[in-house]
Amino acid sequence: AEQSPKAFHCHDMSECPVSGDAASPSTEEEPAGFADLSELPVEVSERRPTCLHCYRPEKVCLCPFLPADPLEVSTCLYIVQHPAEESRVLRTVPLLAACLPKGKCKVLVGRRFNEERHPELASVCKDSHTLILYPGSDAENLEELDKDFTTPPHNVIIIDGTWSQAKDIFLRNSIFRLPKQVQLNSATCSQYVIRTQPTNMCLSTLECAAVTLSIMERNQAIPEVLLRPLQALCSFQLQHGAQVHHSKEHLLKSGLYDKPMPRNKRKIKRMQKLLTNQNI
Ligand SMILES: [Zn+2]
Repeated sequence: AEQSPKAFHCHDMSECPVSGDAASPSTEEEPAGFADLSELPVEVSERRPTCLHCYRPEKVCLCPFLPADPLEVSTCLYIVQHPAEESRVLRTVPLLAACLPKGKCKVLVGRRFNEERHPELASVCKDSHTLILYPGSDAENLEELDKDFTTPPHNVIIIDGTWSQAKDIFLRNSIFRLPKQVQLNSATCSQYVIRTQPTNMCLSTLECAAVTLSIMERNQAIPEVLLRPLQALCSFQLQHGAQVHHSKEHLLKSGLYDKPMPRNKRKIKRMQKLLTNQNI
């Protein structure tokens, strides 16, 4: 039977483009409530064969875009992942892990981390060769730290989640304030256009890791290798009808933001701040 594009999306939810909260999915021909349903995380059907290497459904396997051999790096990444991120439709961490040697990208899922439950992570946090990537006034710009990060090898902790999830994890777990706090200062614009970013400067975890590793390893070839599967994923999504999800900032500035303005004063202030942000 012939399938409409909508039927395709309903059938193959792991490729469903609806992922960001500022997305404006066309709902006119859908029964009421579908838009809400489509934003629920969808479990991959057990029947559908999954590639054992990239963990993607076989028909959208990204292995051809992964490096033939894992990227050689001395830095070890610890990805602290909010549980909600694990079930999101579009995730970048599995792609990152597939590009790196086993043991150089460790993923820990949770909200609360402490020495008792996470002794390995706690000792990594106490290690003077560990950095945590979390922007803020206390953070130093990683690009400006003139240091050899490869001898001895360093660890970098990256929090994977939305801004508010990452903030919650960082502020509520005292072990994450032990490592030196760093941020990325580069004007790298997000190439990951599928997910809606709160601002243009907010990069996906994969992009953050790519930029971080290129600085740590002093190897400018790293981002290209790490971002190749992401670009393939994005172009696949775009070919299958995903809308390009611009950041809220972009939508506001270009007058394309079509959601009702918030009533909450704090939210309005935040949006005004986005509009007057001079950095973009
Ligand atoms: Zn694969």
